[in-house]
Amino acid sequence: MKHITVIGAGTMGNGIAHVFAMNGLKVNLVDVSQDALDRAIANISKNLDRMVAKGLLTEEGKTTTLANLETFTELDLAVKEADMVVEAATENVDLKLKIFKQMDDLAPSKAILATNTSSISITKIAAVTKRPTQVIGMHFMNPVPIMKLVEVIRGYATSNEVTNKVMEMSRALGKVPVEVNDYPGFVANRILMPMINEAIYSLYEGVAGVEEIDTVMKLGMAHPMGPLQLADFIGLDVCLAILRVLHEGFGNPKYAPCPLLVNMVAAGRLGVKSGEGFYLYQPGVKELVVAGNFKQLN
Ligand code: NAD
Repeated sequence: MKHITVIGAGTMGNGIAHVFAMNGLKVNLVDVSQDALDRAIANISKNLDRMVAKGLLTEEGKTTTLANLETFTELDLAVKEADMVVEAATENVDLKLKIFKQMDDLAPSKAILATNTSSISITKIAAVTKRPTQVIGMHFMNPVPIMKLVEVIRGYATSNEVTNKVMEMSRALGKVPVEVNDYPGFVANRILMPMINEAIYSLYEGVAGVEEIDTVMKLGMAHPMGPLQLADFIGLDVCLAILRVLHEGFGNPKYAPCPLLVNMVAAGRLGVKSGEGFYLYQPGVKELVVAGNFKQLN
């Protein structure tokens, strides 16, 4: 595989494009928003600078990586030569079905169509295409350049050949792929999201404050980051969308999203990307400006 198209240049898309481009693949990065594309390239460049400063990459490596990247706002031009497409657009089932229908028409017939969805059924996405054996989940973790895991999700019809190619490609990117089956939330989010939701419920019910909850989980369970800060990193809108998929997919009330999460998303408090979540940030910058923001704003 030589040509990869990444659809969506948000939190995940820019990291996925970074990793493919750094490993010598030609990457076409597509987004409906030119602003998102500009931010993604600036972000990749900043992250590559960090790697150069740490001695993990040479200046030449940075230049080659950036030269491997091209940005597009039109899908047709971006996918016409793709060997593989990795879709990382907003977590919305109707949007993903629409994108996969379009990709199926526009991408070469041999191309693998992968999705980075956190929770939406791969089988359902595959079913809107004429190549369900070539549709697969390739679930990277955030931040993509740092996190080792790729959850590789086989839909009902995904072929062994395509699964093996995606496992191999993940290893070539320096990642550790784990193969799982297609059920709501797969493995990662089926376990992670109920924990985050429970942390938000603990806050909502006044059991403890933001920092107290995060400190208990960091120091008590050896988690590198508390669940509320992690939710800010993931994006509260993304967390809500995943919980809704789990809730609907299993029909079990234990997955119902906490009303506080629903309200925060409605208020536009999406975490790092909006500058406000449970903590305060400069929009798009991960360092905290104010800890425990939630208590102070309420
Ligand atoms: P995000 O909101 O940061 O970015 C989504 C991007 O998709 C935006 O830039 C938006 O303009 C773009 N977009 C929307 N419609 C589009 C279209 N038709 N064509 C092209 N681009 C379009 O979201 P994100 O956090 O990067 O999540 C992307 C995907 O990755 C979701 O499926 C999400 O569930 C999954 N994911 C997210 C995380 C995380 O930690 N945020 C982790 C793993 C997987």
